[in-house]
Amino acid sequence: MDLNKQVDNILEVKNLAVSFETFFGEVEAVRNISFSLKRGSTLAIVGESGCGKSVTANSIVQLLPKPPVLYKNGEILFNGEDLLKKSNNEMVDIRGNSISMVFQDPMTSLNPTMKVGNQIVEGVKRHKNISREEGKKLAIEMLDLVAVPQPERRVNQYPHEFSGGMRQRVMIALAMAAKPELLIADEPTTALDVTVQAQILDLMRNLKDEMGTSIILITHDLGVVADMADEVIVMYAGQILEKGTVIDIFKNPKHPYTRKLLSAVPKLNMARSETLHSIDGTPPDLYKPPAGCSFYDRCDEAMVICKDHLPEFLHHEGEHCSRCWLNHKDCVKVVR
Ligand code: SF4
Repeated sequence: MDLNKQVDNILEVKNLAVSFETFFGEVEAVRNISFSLKRGSTLAIVGESGCGKSVTANSIVQLLPKPPVLYKNGEILFNGEDLLKKSNNEMVDIRGNSISMVFQDPMTSLNPTMKVGNQIVEGVKRHKNISREEGKKLAIEMLDLVAVPQPERRVNQYPHEFSGGMRQRVMIALAMAAKPELLIADEPTTALDVTVQAQILDLMRNLKDEMGTSIILITHDLGVVADMADEVIVMYAGQILEKGTVIDIFKNPKHPYTRKLLSAVPKLNMARSETLHSIDGTPPDLYKPPAGCSFYDRCDEAMVICKDHLPEFLHHEGEHCSRCWLNHKDCVKVVR
C-alpha cells in the first residue's frame, strides 16, 4: 500500500449496502451505511444481534462468500483505495497484513492441531520474508507483548493447553504480529469473564497506543464501549440510527433506540426492587424492510409520519447525527 496516500481517515465507508441471496429471497443485511474511522482512533459499532455489525466488519475484509453475499452499492475506502474493487489476491495481501481481525470465539478460531507459535508465524510469513528463527523470535515477542507468561515455553504449546483468556491473548498476538494499520475486533471479550475481559481491553488499548493501530470494535456491551471507544455508531436493522463521539452517545443520546439501549444497561447502584429494562418486540424482517423508520414497531415515541417515511440524518453538534423524526423541527408531530 502506498503510504504517501495516507489520509486522516484510515477508513471511509460510503453508502454500503450488503444483501444475502437466500432461497426465500434477498435479505438486506446492511442498508446504505456511511461512516469513517480516524487514523489511530477507536470506533465502536453497537446494536442488538442481527443488526448488521458483523456483516459490516466482514465486508471490510471481504470474508463473506460471493454468492450468497451481494455488494449492492457503496465503497469501502481503506487509505483511499476501494476494497470492493480489489481482486481476491490483492485482498489476501491486505488481510492479516494491513487489516487484521480478532474473532469472538478463540476456541474455534485457533487451529487445534498447530502450536500457537507456528500459527503466529504462519500469518506473518504469508506477507513478510522472514527466517524460521526470526519467526520464532517474533512469536515469543508477541506472546510476551500480550502478557502470556513464560512465552519461550508457551510458544511450543497447542491451543488446548491455554485457558479461554490466554487463547484470546494469542488471537490478539496473531492479529497484531504483522503490525496492522487497522484491527477489527468482533466481540473480542464476549466469551470471557469480567476480570479477563478488563485485562484484554487494557491490552488492546496499550497495543493501540504503542503501535498507533486504528480499531473497529464490534460489541453489544456498552460498558466496553464507554471504556474503549472514541466514536460510536449505533446500528439497527442494517442501518445507522445514530453516530457521534462516546460523550455524545452516552451523555446526549438523540435517538429513542440509543436511549433504550442505554437504559437496558444494569447499574451498580440499582435498588433490589428495580427491574432491568428491556426493549420489547423484535427487529423488523429484513426480507422486507419497512419503508419508514425501522424502529417504528418498538418505539414508545412513534408518530404518524414515522411509519411510511424514512427520517433523514440530522446533524447535531460536531459529528453527532441521528435518524429520527423527533429531532426534525419542521415535521408534523402527530402521535400514532
Ligand atoms: Fe421513534 Fe419515529 Fe424516531 Fe423512529 S423516527 S425512532 S419511530 S420517533
